[in-house]
Amino acid sequence: MIERRLGAPGDGWGPATRAIHAGQEPDATTGSVVTPVVLASTFAQDGVGRPRAYEYARSANPTRDALETCLASLEGARFGLAFASGMAAIDAVLRALAGPGPVVIPTDVYGGTYRLLAEVLDVAFEAVDLTDAAAVPELLPPGTSLVWLESPTNPRLSIIDLAAVAAEAHRRGAVCVVDNTFATPLLQHPLAVGADVVVHSTTKYLGGHSDVLGGFVGLDDPGLARRLHAVQRGAGAVPGPLDCFLVLRGVKTLAVRMAAHCANARAVAELLLGHPAVAEVRYPGLPTHPGHAVARTQMSGFGGMVSATLAGGEEAARSLAGGLELFTLGESLGGVESLVAHPATMSHAPLGATPLAADPALVRLSVGIESLEDLVADLQAGLARLAS
Ligand SMILES: *Cc1c(COP(=O)(O)O)cnc(C)c1O
Repeated sequence: MIERRLGAPGDGWGPATRAIHAGQEPDATTGSVVTPVVLASTFAQDGVGRPRAYEYARSANPTRDALETCLASLEGARFGLAFASGMAAIDAVLRALAGPGPVVIPTDVYGGTYRLLAEVLDVAFEAVDLTDAAAVPELLPPGTSLVWLESPTNPRLSIIDLAAVAAEAHRRGAVCVVDNTFATPLLQHPLAVGADVVVHSTTKYLGGHSDVLGGFVGLDDPGLARRLHAVQRGAGAVPGPLDCFLVLRGVKTLAVRMAAHCANARAVAELLLGHPAVAEVRYPGLPTHPGHAVARTQMSGFGGMVSATLAGGEEAARSLAGGLELFTLGESLGGVESLVAHPATMSHAPLGATPLAADPALVRLSVGIESLEDLVADLQAGLARLAS
């Protein structure tokens, strides 16, 4: 875990500058402009009881420090903790911060988060539709200890009013956590609108190149940070130095990548919106999206994910997902390359027979940063094949 000095010089920088420079000063001994990958598991001590800055790599490592500093800076967080995967980060947050009262999750939640609660952790939880902020006070169960939010949600890209739900969580003494993986700190700042904790799967947009797994937790409260640090160091689900380097390297281009993801995704959403084979398009940037007005208040761009339900139902969804050329059929999202998924049989299969199951007619697109005309041609050809 790192603690950032608030008011440090970099706090005045814009996000693209922080992504490249926060925590990444040229190396003090060599001048290397690239953060060194320090592979050592242990560090020499100057005398008995006189360790230097680092002792043992599970507790802290310089490459991880650089990553934690950079991501904490992007989220405007005082404390930052990197983990070996998004799920390791989520596991640490739930283990450290869930109380005896139920954890509330949205009805549309990342399948792995649901599986962790249902199959691994011994934590009471309840799924609640949080998309109508006005109804939330009545829907939160008594004694709620933690409210888990995603916005946009996965896979339906629903929007939750983060400020309103965080305020309601606080009125009940509950902790509010936001999984900000889909929006990234470039487009949305959960801590600034009242969330206590922000979580990322850095495997997705932050890494951005589909070549590394990682997770991150950012927060401001020293008491909550101490509890999380105890889990990070004690349980040890930390990322290796090379993984930290890959995420740091990916983050350097986050600003330009997100601009391209947003532009391509909007164009793809508009193409789908007018197509007869498509029953509904879910993209928070479209005025037709029920959460559009709230999205405009809490996001500075609408992201690279687009979901659609097909008029031809499950058969059409499976056939489109399996039949595109440039959109590779695969799990995950947020890389430079476009991906297509069928959540009901893939990421959201853990929700299978539950009321939270994904609509089998839904396909989810992670729109990459290829030339837009090629993505459009691929989708148009795929949709035309459905009709024939
Ligand atoms: C992928 C994902 C996770 C899990 O992250 P891993 O790095 O795969 O462990 C959590 N939340 C969301 C929203 C995700 O997309």
